[in-house]
Amino acid sequence: MNELLERLSIARGVAGHEGEVRAILREYVAPHVDEIAVDSIGNLIARKAGPQDPPGQRVLLAAHMDEVGAIVMRCNSDGTVKFRSIGGLDPRILPGKRVRIGADAVPGVIMRAPHAARAGSRVAPIADLLIDTGGAGGIQAGDMITFESDYEQFGRLLKGKAFDDRVGCYILAQLLQEDFPCQLVGAFTVQEEIGLRGARVAAYAVEPDLAVALEGTVADDLPREEDVSPTTELGKGPAVSVMDRSAHADRRLVRILTQTADAHNIPYQIKQPGVGGTDVGAIHLARSGVPSVAVAVPCRYIHTPAALMDPADVENTIELMKHALAGSLARPLEAAGSEK
Ligand SMILES: [Zn+2]
Repeated sequence: MNELLERLSIARGVAGHEGEVRAILREYVAPHVDEIAVDSIGNLIARKAGPQDPPGQRVLLAAHMDEVGAIVMRCNSDGTVKFRSIGGLDPRILPGKRVRIGADAVPGVIMRAPHAARAGSRVAPIADLLIDTGGAGGIQAGDMITFESDYEQFGRLLKGKAFDDRVGCYILAQLLQEDFPCQLVGAFTVQEEIGLRGARVAAYAVEPDLAVALEGTVADDLPREEDVSPTTELGKGPAVSVMDRSAHADRRLVRILTQTADAHNIPYQIKQPGVGGTDVGAIHLARSGVPSVAVAVPCRYIHTPAALMDPADVENTIELMKHALAGSLARPLEAAGSEK
């Protein structure tokens, strides 16, 4: 669909190795913001001052640059590579997957170690998997490992890797092109997949009045089973989080988003509570607390090389955030405790 989204999906960046993603975003965002800088941990922070007199309240939008992947533990004498995951990888999907290793993107394929292969159909844990590079040199401990995946159209859907959370980065980059009646701070964060680490540093420094995390989230909507309500569904619009494993959303912000969507005929869905976590988990506990919520684009097969998402959900998430930032998100929240 879109050149920026394609570049972001193909860019390689597990936690601690976000440089390529950061460079793409910095180049795209810099002409449209008042200030842009990289902080001590690697977050890219872009600021738009908004109205001056009086200044608007400070709204933090966060999207994480890192993707799930792995890291080289050691190179064995037979040329295979031992690795461990960075972020949540399902060992069931790994054997046979093509990967790229290190800054030079050395190609490899994940295989089961011989003793694991002999164990038959049992799922091999990641500790029993290796990468075959055909004996390529130049690989060392600490090199990052990413899935290899093309960005392409699947019917009406988009397929690629790392939509979690490059789609959030894409949406944030679009929002930073516009002017809103608030101080807008865009934080492209690092190391979300291993414990929301970049967001913790960013939220402390930014001291926002409120925050929204922009995400890609689990869509387990296929195949359809009766009486099983999916976490989110493709094509049903942005998914607003009420509660996940990392945070309870601020009820006032949930209401602002759902009322804004209703007022502008934008479809939305409430993400089924309990699944996953986002940068909100760190942001809402920063300093003396920050009212926060997460909005996400549903992605099938998230954390695999072949995530699928609906471009209509991406556009509707941008529309919802534009209307919310032009309206209620730019105004002080009603007093805490006033919500039902
Ligand atoms: Zn994510």
